[in-house]
Amino acid sequence: MKRIIKTIRIDVDKCNGCRACEMICSAFHAAERYGSVNPARARIRVIHEPLRDLYFPVFAGDYAQAECAGRDKYIINGKEFDECALCRASCPSRDVFKEPDSGLPLRCDMCEEDPSLEEPLCVQWCHSDALVYEEREEEVEEEVIKPDELEIGLESLVDRYGLQKTIDTLARMLERA
Ligand code: SF4
Ligand code: SF4
Repeated sequence: MKRIIKTIRIDVDKCNGCRACEMICSAFHAAERYGSVNPARARIRVIHEPLRDLYFPVFAGDYAQAECAGRDKYIINGKEFDECALCRASCPSRDVFKEPDSGLPLRCDMCEEDPSLEEPLCVQWCHSDALVYEEREEEVEEEVIKPDELEIGLESLVDRYGLQKTIDTLARMLERA
């Protein structure tokens, strides 16, 4: 079976830290589309240290239930990146890639839309060409269906409050609906 793999290639040397990608991502995913701009809600985060001339976009990846055991340091082009800085996970160790009000995990969804956009919005808004959209076709044994945003959110609520409390709350909401 063939599958289209969508990726965004990052050219770190071209990123100037303008953060337009964070702004448009948060606006596109606002509760009311384009109704607000809050980079804390973006699914891309630019590591931003102007004094060290250090800019590095990182996309939000999968939700991680637990902290990882190891910590790494990265040296790229002679610049040192902090332990967790380049990690894409929404995990208990830090506040990034979490919806600021609810704490629910955020993940880049490649701006999936129907009909689909020609290119994800952060790519369209990056005028430095630091983000380049790419598609490739890959042979896969079977299609892996990734959990959608609602499922990931529910999983994180169950992790936080327990299954029974989450079910009881949903049941109460159903009664009120
Ligand atoms: S829009 Fe492009 S140049 Fe600006 S911060 Fe994002 S990746 Fe960097
Ligand atoms: S591809 Fe879309 S969802 Fe992902 S970071 Fe870019 S703007 Fe946000």
